[in-house]
Amino acid sequence: MPLDQPVSFVSGRTLVRGACPHDCPDTCALHVTVGNGRAIKVDGDPEHPTTNGVLCTKVARYLERTYSDARVLHPLQRVGKKGDGKFRRISWEAALDIIAKRFTEIAASPEGPQAIVPYSYAGTMGLLQYGSMDRRFFYKLGASLLDRTICSVAGKAGYVATVGAAIGIDMEEFENARLILIWGSNPIVSNLHLWSRLQEAKRRGAKLVAIDPYRSQTAEKCHVHLALMPGTDAALALGMMHVLIDEHLIDRDYIDRYTLGFEQLSVRAREYPPQRVAEITGLAAEQIIDLARDYGTIRPAAIRLNYGMQRHAGGGMAMRTAACLPALVGAWRDPAGGALLSSSGSPAHH
Ligand code: SF4
Repeated sequence: MPLDQPVSFVSGRTLVRGACPHDCPDTCALHVTVGNGRAIKVDGDPEHPTTNGVLCTKVARYLERTYSDARVLHPLQRVGKKGDGKFRRISWEAALDIIAKRFTEIAASPEGPQAIVPYSYAGTMGLLQYGSMDRRFFYKLGASLLDRTICSVAGKAGYVATVGAAIGIDMEEFENARLILIWGSNPIVSNLHLWSRLQEAKRRGAKLVAIDPYRSQTAEKCHVHLALMPGTDAALALGMMHVLIDEHLIDRDYIDRYTLGFEQLSVRAREYPPQRVAEITGLAAEQIIDLARDYGTIRPAAIRLNYGMQRHAGGGMAMRTAACLPALVGAWRDPAGGALLSSSGSPAHH
């Protein structure tokens, strides 16, 4: 069924299929009921496996936002000091004149047009809004280029350096995992449909471990919350490796067949015994040992990695290091084992 085609007509109302425009890993399918040119209801598509008929609270109330009186529908110019919150309405012509004049002045200044940075990304996705005429315009202008994404390049580069692509466990498989590490991620708030799967896994007896300096809503609902110091994720991963190698909990066959660099990695991991990692991370040595033992013995073991852990110096390396863990224990052998950061490199996206 084409996305832009109405799928049913009921008493003058039209049901339109859509996709959530947010840059969110869930990518929900929407059913929008339209009557007299206005959207009157937004629901999750019950047939779309990820959405499963449920939208997050943000988008379930999308109509309130779309038709809110508080929406900014016209250009406003600030009057007075920044922060005073005083604006006056101006015309589109006047707004464009102000911006064009300012751009022209900057482009003609000694710094040139590169003094302009188009700072944008994908708050609400959609290929047209995400990057089309704006890219052409700023290219023509000679403005600085911005590497997008702003907040996740390091982590993705780290993950891809280890795994080879932005691919990972199928989200629907998480419910079959027996051990789930939720690392730098708060799915209750920002990956709701994964959380449903994690809840299902929990009901089936899986152990959930949150690794996060912050006691998020998700961390509160896991069996274990390891509140490590910010920026110490790589040390924790190395400490886990130390224990896994030391206690022979690794999958030698998998390592020999499918990985490169194990000898160098094990030399590095040897430098991170649990006691040292405890000092770096602020966790107890026993917590690190328990985590490693669980990870080396419970199958399938899934890791939901997220960008929280890479927003600090060395963040890319932290992701790269954590992404080595599934290969060490052969977790990738199980459909519900391995890791997931982003599925943007999976065939489904191309
Ligand atoms: S969880 Fe919410 S924001 Fe994310 S895709 Fe679904 S409806 Fe959109």
